[in-house]
Amino acid sequence: MGEAITTASIPADLAQLADGSALYGYAHADTRRLLVIGDAQAGAGQPGARQLGWLEPAHGHDGDAEAALVVRRAEAAGALQVLWQGRPCRVETYALETDLFSRNSGLLETAALQQSGVIICGCGSVGSLAALDLARSGVGRFLLVDPDLLAIENLCRHQCGLADVGRRKVEAVAERIRQINPQAVVHSHALPLEQLDPALISRFCSSNSDTLMLACADSRRADRHAARLAAALALPFVAIGLWERAFAGEIFYSHPGEPMPCYGCAFDGLAEGLTARPEPGRRYYSNETELQKLQFQPGIAIDIAHVTGIGLKLALDLLHRCNPQHVPRLLGQLSQYTLVCNSNDPRLGGERAEIFSHPLQVTTSIQVGYGQGCPPCRWSC
Ligand SMILES: [Zn+2]
Repeated sequence: MGEAITTASIPADLAQLADGSALYGYAHADTRRLLVIGDAQAGAGQPGARQLGWLEPAHGHDGDAEAALVVRRAEAAGALQVLWQGRPCRVETYALETDLFSRNSGLLETAALQQSGVIICGCGSVGSLAALDLARSGVGRFLLVDPDLLAIENLCRHQCGLADVGRRKVEAVAERIRQINPQAVVHSHALPLEQLDPALISRFCSSNSDTLMLACADSRRADRHAARLAAALALPFVAIGLWERAFAGEIFYSHPGEPMPCYGCAFDGLAEGLTARPEPGRRYYSNETELQKLQFQPGIAIDIAHVTGIGLKLALDLLHRCNPQHVPRLLGQLSQYTLVCNSNDPRLGGERAEIFSHPLQVTTSIQVGYGQGCPPCRWSC
């Protein structure tokens, strides 16, 4: 080790910790960088964080002589002196609340999003990406629902990694959210949505902030259940589904601000609507039963991300829908039901690829209608 100076990033409010607090964070010897994240409680939620040292008592007592990091209160009130392996560090302070989302400033309403909640039904390839991108956008509260464990074959299209194989997806994703925003509130439930106590969901929604339901399950049947719950609670709703091999996907949304058909109505009426489409569409959607059987079988991560990104832009627009300053990216431009194409090539999409125009037309918005006597629709009509 030479005499090069180590740079320590410390929270602006570190001095508020009690004397003698253990300090946790990350040390990168190769780049001579330290990130101090706080006390033991702050370190507990962060994978790989370790105790670096101590905040020294103001008077006397040397603290732990073996601790590599020693933070001392200096004479000036509030000032801190930081030593790493006995040498003074260059000190930078950061404030999580302002620095974390500074690059979103002017584009997203960070303060409001921090209070907003998202219920994510399904934490697979779509749901894990959605959770992390919404956390990056500043959404501060999450309720994750998925009964599955992460498997090796998930890794090529999931946001979590090898160390998470065998863990519950909801818990692995919750940890990743906290790595982006340590202050995010994350509830995780390793159950099918149908088995989750509805009281838990309504409690999550009962704060005076906005909550969005995001359906990312692997079937339209499961997404329909999420849609019913959203309707019962008058929540804005977005469903993101991938078609076979992810050559295309679909986005559906509804929100309680305006009368609009619910998910169930939209798909009940869709088969008839789509048979009016050109011949190739009729071959694919030959009847409603076939449409219902359609299974979402995600393909490669890039195709999944392309479809998911459009759904998430809509989700952000919906979370900002009451903010007159917000310029919607997609809301108002897309209809309630949008098909997103990844390829026109029949070698990927089979003859179904023909329902999208050539050359590649990325989205197709479809008008959907009301079903007859649909109870969930009543809240919006
Ligand atoms: Zn309806």
